[in-house]
Amino acid sequence: MSLRWGFLTFILVVSTCLHAQTQQEKLRELEMQRQAEKQRIIDRQIDSVGQLINQQQYEAADAKIIALLKNVRSVPSDLTFYLGKNSFYLNKFKQSVDWLNKYIQLKGTSGQFSEEAINLKAKAEVELLKEKQIEAKQAAQILSKDFDIDCGPTGKVACPVCNGSTVIIKKTYLGETYKTCGYCNHTGALSCEDFNKLMKGQLKANSQ
Ligand SMILES: [Zn+2]
Repeated sequence: MSLRWGFLTFILVVSTCLHAQTQQEKLRELEMQRQAEKQRIIDRQIDSVGQLINQQQYEAADAKIIALLKNVRSVPSDLTFYLGKNSFYLNKFKQSVDWLNKYIQLKGTSGQFSEEAINLKAKAEVELLKEKQIEAKQAAQILSKDFDIDCGPTGKVACPVCNGSTVIIKKTYLGETYKTCGYCNHTGALSCEDFNKLMKGQLKANSQ
């Protein structure tokens, strides 16, 4: 009697164990399927980024890339390439060099897009250099605001704010309002010193 009970208990325990195991396996399988499906969706979206770039729809590709970046924990290598390529066509050359470099670091010369990445990176670097030269030229521009202007022998200039009238006319929806010019102190003229200050935005208006 007790032997039979023991046997039944044994069967029960084994079957419960087996059942639990298969449940766990099923869950694991489901999780793997879920992950694989998620990956497939991401892969499809990355492919469509490539297509948008080929169709020269760079803004649309950019929007899709930004949405993708929010959804991936780590950036897939193909996406680093497309991001670098699309940035180039959006004239974001620094960003382009950065991501193309990332792809080349990942894939070396044997990646699907390695050759294109290397060529495009070289082009982006040329554009980046041009940009830097333009910036340097702009920094070297000579601008009048950096100099004092000689007002001539009178040492006075007609006040440019009120055109020498001492009055500033403001048009509002109620009509015109008149206000005394706050810069030339009722004279309609500025001293050369004040004129130069005004040109540099350093002359304060008299509020009265
Ligand atoms: Zn004035």
